[in-house]
Amino acid sequence: MEKILEVNDLHVTFTTYGGTVKAVRGVNFHLNKGETLAIVGESGCGKSVTSNAIMRLIPDPPGKISNGSILFNGKDLTKLTEKEMRQIRGVDISMIFQDPMTALNPTLTIGSQLIEGLRQHHKISSENAKKKALEMMDLVGIPNPEVRMKQYPHQFSGGMRQRIVIAIALICEPELLIADEPTTALDVTIQAQILELFEKIQDTTGVSIILITHDLGVVAKIADRIAVMYAGKIIEVGTKREIFYQPEHPYTQGLLKSVPRLDLKGEKLTPIDGTPPDLFSPPTGCPFTARCPFAMEVCDKVYPFQSELSDTHHVECWLQDERAKQLLATSAAK
Ligand code: SF4
Ligand code: MG
Repeated sequence: MEKILEVNDLHVTFTTYGGTVKAVRGVNFHLNKGETLAIVGESGCGKSVTSNAIMRLIPDPPGKISNGSILFNGKDLTKLTEKEMRQIRGVDISMIFQDPMTALNPTLTIGSQLIEGLRQHHKISSENAKKKALEMMDLVGIPNPEVRMKQYPHQFSGGMRQRIVIAIALICEPELLIADEPTTALDVTIQAQILELFEKIQDTTGVSIILITHDLGVVAKIADRIAVMYAGKIIEVGTKREIFYQPEHPYTQGLLKSVPRLDLKGEKLTPIDGTPPDLFSPPTGCPFTARCPFAMEVCDKVYPFQSELSDTHHVECWLQDERAKQLLATSAAK
C-alpha cells in the first residue's frame, strides 16, 4: 500500500517557566492512502500535539519540533518554510477542530466562507467557485444549498455547522484530512451522522483521514487502524480488529474496559486508576508502570522495545518481550 504520510521519531517539547514539557517523545507511525487512522488516548497524551505538528501549527516559542521527520508524499514537512507550509495547509492537508463555531466567521455568509477558502488557493472564476461551493454543501448533506449559502453561521444547528466546517476543509480537495475530536461537541445522534458523513466523504473523494479522539466508540465506527497514545508515545498500534479483539498493552486493555459497549449490557465499566506521569520529567522506563496491574521490576527501569505481533500489530510492553526475563536476570545478578 502506498503511504501518504510517515512520521519518524517525532519529538515535540514546550518550554515553560516550570521547565520543559516533553509532550511527544519519539512517535512513529504511517498513514496509507485512502485509509483512516485513529489516534486515541486520554487528554494530555500528545495526540493533538502530534496532529498540530503535522500541520506545523506548534507555536514556536514555546513549542518546538525538537527531533524527527514528517514525510508527506515523501516531502519532509519539518524542513519547509512557513511560506511553503501555507501552500500545503488547507490545500493538500486540511484540519478540522472540535468546536465548529470558532472555525466559522460569524460575520460572513456560509457561501462566502466556502468560496473564500477556494479562491485563496486557486485561480477560479466566481461562477465556478459558487458551483463548487454548492457541490460541497450537497456532498456534506446540507439541504437547499442555494438558499443556505446566503445564511450566516448562527442560522445553523451545531451539527449543520460542523458539516459546513467539513465542507470548507474539503473544498480544495486535500489528500489528507486531520480531524481533532470532530464530534465531541455534538450530541450523540448528530455524532453518528457526522461519522457516517466521514465514511461517505472517504468513499467519494478517497481522502486519507487522521482522526484524533479520546472516544473509542467513535473509532469503532470509522477507523481502519488505531494508534494508542500514552504519555507522549504510541504504545500500541494495530488494525481495528487487533486493537478491539486482541489488545495486548495493559493500557489499551484498560481503555477498552472503560468504554460502554452496546453488546454487553449490564457489564461494569472500570476506569483506569491513577493518573498519567508528569511530562516535565517523564519516567525512563514504561510510563504506565505506576498504573499497571502487571508491572514487573524491569518496567520502570527500561523502556520496552517494540514487539511485532503481526505485520500491522505492534506493542511496546515488556509482557510481550522475552528479553524482559534476561534483563531481570542481569539486574538481579548485579
Ligand atoms: Fe505494564 Fe510493564 Fe507492560 Fe508497562 S511494560 S505496560 S508496566 S507490563
Ligand atoms: Mg486534544
